[in-house]
Amino acid sequence: GLPSDSYFLTRCFIQSILRTRGKYIHKGEAGRCLIVAGSHGMMGAAVLSAKACMRSGTGLLTMCVPRCGVDIVQVSVPEVLVITSDGDERMEGYVAIDSFDAIGIGPGIGTDASTAETLLSVLQSSNQPMVLDADALNILSQNPSWLEFIPKDSVLTPHPGEFKRLVGQWQDDYHRLDLQKALAKQYSIYVLVKGAHTTIACPDGTVFFNSTGNPGMATAGSGDVLTGMITSFLGQGYSSLEAVLIACYVHGLAGDIYARTHAEQSLIASDIIDNISFSLRSIP
Ligand code: AMP
Ligand code: MG
Repeated sequence: GLPSDSYFLTRCFIQSILRTRGKYIHKGEAGRCLIVAGSHGMMGAAVLSAKACMRSGTGLLTMCVPRCGVDIVQVSVPEVLVITSDGDERMEGYVAIDSFDAIGIGPGIGTDASTAETLLSVLQSSNQPMVLDADALNILSQNPSWLEFIPKDSVLTPHPGEFKRLVGQWQDDYHRLDLQKALAKQYSIYVLVKGAHTTIACPDGTVFFNSTGNPGMATAGSGDVLTGMITSFLGQGYSSLEAVLIACYVHGLAGDIYARTHAEQSLIASDIIDNISFSLRSIP
């Protein structure tokens, strides 16, 4: 049966942890975020995560992208600063990651050996919680010993395919949940497995089930939007747990708000971004 230490994510609960912005806040206090994302042909993932991060309330966002992506991000999201790592088409080598309140890494970075080194350098040069998604998770699957370097309280956001590469095949949903909880416990991290029923496993064994979202969200880029949102809330001073719960709920609700007036199957990831603001506003 269901473990007793599991919770259903309700609007009431999200409302109780979501804070309003202080009148005298300045942008430096509203989260200085860094997102490491993109490679040639996958710059859309970087742009989607950047927009979602900004729309969720980030004060200052820096995007780290390969050189080919600089103009793309600057034109698509003029609000963000752009830095590059070595490498024209994909991230290579060391990335300067100091002085950020939150870091997200993974959307569209690819799994090249040189990019794997970039990920390793990010993991090893920070001990603050970060968000790891997409190809960052695929690189970790290829280098399981690097899991040890993930800072405590980080958030991993695999979809079922990425999760399978990380932990192997499961027999049924209960087994999958056990693997998810074990991973969270072993490395003291939050593991969010995405899908129609997104589940979030905590280091202490607690599991949260999300209650928002719809099948229209099974579309390219949905997950990149979520990564930008979690990074944003983390940067704004929420704990890892609060950040992942708020982002997950608000992300699904944004998709649900779109679906109230549109066909589900028409939903594209940009529509989630466009509705983040309505979603936040409906949780007073
Ligand atoms: P990704 O595969 O990384 O793009 O992430 C997919 C995103 O869409 C996650 O936030 C999922 O929770 C969401 N999603 C995918 N399929 C469904 C579904 N059938 N119902 C609701 N949400 C979904
Ligand atoms: Mg994804």
